[in-house]
Amino acid sequence: MSPTTTPPPAKRTRRGEGQWALGYREPLNPNERSKKDDNPLNVRARIENIYAHGGFASIDPGDLRGRFRWYGLYTQRKPGIDGGRTATLEPEELDDEYFMLRVRTDGGAVSTEQLRVLGELSQTYARDTADITDRQNIQYHWIRIEDMPEIWRRLEGAGMTTMEACGDSPRVVLGSPLAGIAVNEVIDGTPAIEEILRRFIGKPEFANLPRKFKSAVSGLPDIAHEIHDVAFVGVVHPEHGPGFDVWVGGGLSTNPMIAQRLGAWVPLEEVADVYGAVISVFRDYGYRRLRARARIKFLVKDWGAAKFREVMEEKYLGRKLLDGPAPEVPAQPVDHIGVHKQKDGLYYVGAAPIAGRVSGSILVEIAKAAERAGSRRVRFTPQQKLVVLDVPEAEVDALRADLAAQGLQVDASPWRRGVMACTGIEFCKLAIVETKARAHNLVAELETRLKDITDGITAPISVHINGCPNSCARIQTADIGLKGQIVTDDEGRQVEGFQVHLGGGLGLDAGFGKKLRGHKVVASELPDYVERVVRAYVDERAPDERFAQ
Ligand code: SF4
Repeated sequence: MSPTTTPPPAKRTRRGEGQWALGYREPLNPNERSKKDDNPLNVRARIENIYAHGGFASIDPGDLRGRFRWYGLYTQRKPGIDGGRTATLEPEELDDEYFMLRVRTDGGAVSTEQLRVLGELSQTYARDTADITDRQNIQYHWIRIEDMPEIWRRLEGAGMTTMEACGDSPRVVLGSPLAGIAVNEVIDGTPAIEEILRRFIGKPEFANLPRKFKSAVSGLPDIAHEIHDVAFVGVVHPEHGPGFDVWVGGGLSTNPMIAQRLGAWVPLEEVADVYGAVISVFRDYGYRRLRARARIKFLVKDWGAAKFREVMEEKYLGRKLLDGPAPEVPAQPVDHIGVHKQKDGLYYVGAAPIAGRVSGSILVEIAKAAERAGSRRVRFTPQQKLVVLDVPEAEVDALRADLAAQGLQVDASPWRRGVMACTGIEFCKLAIVETKARAHNLVAELETRLKDITDGITAPISVHINGCPNSCARIQTADIGLKGQIVTDDEGRQVEGFQVHLGGGLGLDAGFGKKLRGHKVVASELPDYVERVVRAYVDERAPDERFAQ
């Protein structure tokens, strides 16, 4: 070797990351220990038999901050603790004695009868709170543990559940809000979602995953398939007809990754098999040592799509999948708002609450209004909106007026359509800033300030507001993404504000928004900032140029 040659780096033996399939069955952190000590699904019996009688003080801490999630329960934030203290307090100092509760509504699909039950439960047990989340769920606040047995009894009596609404489990399966009715749908994914629920939800063998598992099945490219752990998107195979293209390993949060295509085409009746293979690979080979590396995206990144597919096929499916084409990508993101014809000649009516905030009373009124209009079906959307299906043409205007009376606009401004917000400091223990009220204020301000240019905005400009560095409101995929943090204002005070990410998008423009170094906005100046950015875009854009370009 010449003296100038650099020696090859010594081979590093990679430390195991807690993959079960490689023999690491002993828990490597407290979360893994908790799941091994007792299957989280067992916590339901303790809630019904012990905690509902003994009250908050009787709850085992391991259940309270861990296993409760498998039934959609999180402690909510104690009121009055400012965001600057979030990181400095112990979990028990942040815990209120009330809970957030997520109800699992897969595909966002509910009947009007179910919607009425959801609303009435909120009126009785949740101080009339209800948010439509971007996972197509309903989220309540102010829930008491004493009321959970009755809440479950009524939810389950109406065919709904909170099982695996959260936790390291197969969570709600997203689906197109237009499944089965859209004129341009490739295929209706509903039977596949039902089969997934039947085979994989509430099953002990799939209830201890390395981390959460987010999935989607849609015959339309309208469910953000690029950011799911696994997603099935409608596509027509040139020989075999309509089926699904499979994507794995997407996710946001602190290491955002766009999912990778497996290049496989799957017919409707095999979607659940493939879902089972993906979730099994994740369970057995997923990284369990560090929570921050435990999502499936890290495994897919390390292996690549080809190896992932090969392991699925050889070890779990026992057969090769067919190769298939990529799905068509819409020119604009689909948001389901407005009045549109269904393939059966009826209409669907999409309406926009601001950032998903409704109430139990509003849900009850929507159920009544939908029924008056002849509908029995409502769907929640991944953009925190809702759609009433199956409306005869003659009933559309009356429904539009009924929804508007509840603050839900069918002819919504681009801002009302494009703004999303996570739970934020009002209820979330991880939050640093307020989000929902700010979203409300922002929409009102933009609707007034930008009236003069609204007609020229052909697609909603998305503004997503997060209360902390997590990405529950998908900030990296927004035109304008706002990550809550404490910032310094002009007078040197520490105040609520946002780190800005600009130009994110999915579909044609799939990519994450750019974090602009030093680009931070004081929360009170948010409307000024967004107005400036939007006006600059409108003034300088080329014809047909989208924001993300
Ligand atoms: Fe809470 Fe942060 Fe998620 Fe918002 S983004 S809901 S503040 S964890």
